[in-house]
Amino acid sequence: MSEEDSLGGSSKNADVLSAPIFGLSRHRLAVDGDGVTTLVAFHGCPLRCRYCLNDVCHDPRSVRRRVTPRQLVDELAIDNIYFLATGGGVCFGGGEPLLHSAFIEAFAKTRPPEWKITVETSLNVPITAVERVNPYIDHYIVDIKDCNPEIYRGYTDGDVSVALANLRWLLSHKGMIGKLTVRLPHIPDYNSPTDVDRSRATLAEMGVVDFDEFHYQKEKRRQ
Ligand code: SF4
Repeated sequence: MSEEDSLGGSSKNADVLSAPIFGLSRHRLAVDGDGVTTLVAFHGCPLRCRYCLNDVCHDPRSVRRRVTPRQLVDELAIDNIYFLATGGGVCFGGGEPLLHSAFIEAFAKTRPPEWKITVETSLNVPITAVERVNPYIDHYIVDIKDCNPEIYRGYTDGDVSVALANLRWLLSHKGMIGKLTVRLPHIPDYNSPTDVDRSRATLAEMGVVDFDEFHYQKEKRRQ
């Protein structure tokens, strides 16, 4: 659990909580949520994916600034007109955004309600973090990696059962199917097309209908 989450997550914390971010990317169109979005990348992640594209999120020396939820709302408001005109908003990524669930909750209670909120998450976090943000999330992009426990542990050092339990909890909510995309990567040296098919079948059985299947590039491998 993050330092921010241990504070309790009240909406009154819009000026008190702060979170480390390592990047903002504006004017993204239909890549991480409906309409025009701004991607906010949080520092920190519980996993150590071998081909992590955002390795900088693991290095405490790369934290350049921290923001409060209200500061972030004020900063993103420069694109308010785009968000309103296109049905867009904010995508929280990283790193693992759900390590900062109290921050996201306070942000959600502070931002104009028309701004949509998307999270890109591995779901490898305590269920309490998912429960806290769920009332405010318009779309989940879940990076599940692979459903085979051995493949998952070999690729991430983490336990896939945590992510799958959280995914099951989400899918138990009415209307969740239409707001959830699962990313299913082909991972060189770690899973095969057959493994990906097995993961897909497992997830479909759980109720997932929207998949984003793609191939990782081997040259990005972490040492
Ligand atoms: S979950 Fe994402 S940010 Fe975390 S180690 Fe894996 S690829 Fe990197």
